[in-house]
Amino acid sequence: MIPFLDLTRQHVALKHDLMAAAERVLDSSQFVLGAEGGALEAELAQLCGARHAIGVGSGTDALRLALTALGVGRGDEVLTPAFSFVASATTIAMAGATPVFVDVEPDTLTMDAEAAARALTPRTKVIMPVHLYGHPAAIDRLSAFARERGLALLEDNAQAIGATWGDRPLGGWGDAACLSFYPTKNLGACGDAGMVLTTRDDVADRIRRLRHHGDTGRYHHVELGYCTRLDEVQAAWLRVKLRRLGEWTDRRRHIAARYHAGLAGLPLRLPVERPGARHVYHLFTVRHAQRDALAKRLADDGVGTAVHYPRAVPDQPLFAADGERRWPEAHRAAREVLSLPCFPEMTEAEVDGVIAAVRRACESIG
Ligand SMILES: *Cc1c(COP(=O)(O)O)cnc(C)c1O
Repeated sequence: MIPFLDLTRQHVALKHDLMAAAERVLDSSQFVLGAEGGALEAELAQLCGARHAIGVGSGTDALRLALTALGVGRGDEVLTPAFSFVASATTIAMAGATPVFVDVEPDTLTMDAEAAARALTPRTKVIMPVHLYGHPAAIDRLSAFARERGLALLEDNAQAIGATWGDRPLGGWGDAACLSFYPTKNLGACGDAGMVLTTRDDVADRIRRLRHHGDTGRYHHVELGYCTRLDEVQAAWLRVKLRRLGEWTDRRRHIAARYHAGLAGLPLRLPVERPGARHVYHLFTVRHAQRDALAKRLADDGVGTAVHYPRAVPDQPLFAADGERRWPEAHRAAREVLSLPCFPEMTEAEVDGVIAAVRRACESIG
């Protein structure tokens, strides 16, 4: 059996350091908004090229608070890709605004800049591209577009920590960005955690207050805030793991290179890495016209896979838009995508095993 993902391997290797970090926090008796969180914020601001980083309870809360801090509310529209994890769109609704779905580019499955231009209305306030699977959206074009049209740019960087475009890290291109430390992400907590990155002082101040009951200090509450902070145990654990992120990313890229070499020539669409982009392969997602048959063959052969994602976001019952014609690339992706195992602790033999199994499966499907 080759699992799609096995976090146990990562935690076995780090167990001693993780337990020591938890003990440090326990001994300090400071569990919320303390030294570990502050240190993690500084380390991640630097990694992502942002001036400020503010730890919050999840990636979802990071997006929701960032939208509010950018002034988004009722009556506003936010452009979001029609193909992503659902939180890229639900957070817009949580902030009181309307998600406007934009189709994606066929090769990277990230927001199509021309489709974004067509979706613009006088109510559009923010453009929110997603760096899907760990590959940058066309962030240079999208940030130029945002500047020209006077829109704020919010990067959903939940899947692409450490990725770059033209040597510039993602997360520092726009007015704000989110990170997610959901356990399966490239830098994963042992629970829920997230972060907002921003270069704007006003946005950083607002988010610090929104995450903590709208408090400006000493029980002085100036607006309706939330209770969503990144706790100290998670921060301490994330700092332990952050020291390994570079080598883990190299390992993901190595596995991806082996897949690219070993799966060449099959009737599969392999992920692309645009010139100028550095992909961090949160997911290695291939496309096949008979995706379900391929997944079944691989499962029978002992290889775990997953579908990210089986529906275009506007097709989720929650949104229930009738859009088969409006987002053709997103619909097609939802039918064809299949993610193969790609995590740093995979062995070379497992990588070989996946390649052999995919080759066999493609032959038998024809
Ligand atoms: C994981 C994820 C989120 C939400 O992050 P959570 O920490 O799970 O709340 C948002 N957007 C994308 C693209 C994600 O993959």
